[in-house]
Amino acid sequence: MPWRETRDPYRIWVSEIMLQQTQVTTATPYYTRFLQSFPDVHALADAPLESVLAQWAGLGYYRRARCLHAAAQHVVREHGGVVPRDAAAFAALPGVGRYTMGAVLSISHGARLAVLDGNVGRVFARWSARPLQLKRPADAKQLWAMAESLLPPAGPQVGDWNQALMELGATVCTPRAPRCEECPVRAQCRAHALGTPEAFPPVAARRDSVAVRRAVVWIERAGRVLLAQREGALLAGLWEPPGVELGPGEDARTALKRHLRALGLRARLTDSGVRVKHTITYRTIVAERWDGTLVGAAPRRPALRFADPAAADLAVTALTAKLAKTRQKSSE
Ligand code: SF4
Repeated sequence: MPWRETRDPYRIWVSEIMLQQTQVTTATPYYTRFLQSFPDVHALADAPLESVLAQWAGLGYYRRARCLHAAAQHVVREHGGVVPRDAAAFAALPGVGRYTMGAVLSISHGARLAVLDGNVGRVFARWSARPLQLKRPADAKQLWAMAESLLPPAGPQVGDWNQALMELGATVCTPRAPRCEECPVRAQCRAHALGTPEAFPPVAARRDSVAVRRAVVWIERAGRVLLAQREGALLAGLWEPPGVELGPGEDARTALKRHLRALGLRARLTDSGVRVKHTITYRTIVAERWDGTLVGAAPRRPALRFADPAAADLAVTALTAKLAKTRQKSSE
């Protein structure tokens, strides 16, 4: 893991943000490319947000990239481009929570700060055989207290300890089928002694998945596709063909025409028959691809453009990439 070979707080910070909600194997190539494009805090702060989102495209949870970019600008503005080593100053940066603060400052500066995420919480719950769930605030308090009480004295060993805990949770004490025979803390682990490691932590109730129906219009011109920049809470700033969410039984053609009119567009629409399934957190989206031909010119608006959805400098949604593949198949 390339981020284990550095004590540079900026690089460790980028890795910790990427590794939230993303597996190591997925994050590694993104991490390498991201640092080639933005090798230090100044490079990240100076880059347009769109370039940062383009580097992040495919990793998901784009709020992480937005916060990292805003935080880099804050570091340049308020701290002369030096990542603060003071815990309160670092924790005040956008997107930096207690876990990120502990990880970055303990690994880069040996600060005596604990880390606690799902992996580490699972190790503690099993090691102590206590039914503690990180998602429950009262349990989280106990887990943090446990994490802090076990820390070694300040120095490089704190970073090593925290990284060892993260790795233990990620690679040995896995959610299912933990590899207890290879575990270095097996002799002290109460859940192992009880023979029921998987009973800890107790399984949290899952949020029910919500089915979403969406219609999108695919309009091509000279090998490029009409894309609109998304607004709102979800995937804001990313590019996607114009589309609408459909209510129960709502007619897709009528809804799409209405949406296009609101964008100042008119188009002839044909249902391609292609349906693309896509999941974002708890939303399972089925997108209907409608192929369109523009009637008249497309208005000049900053949030609308004809572009190649595969262009490296364009941040498109994962759904757009899937739709582009279906389009390729239809024309083969
Ligand atoms: S002995 Fe097993 S359950 Fe206990 S910490 Fe190690 S891997 Fe996890």
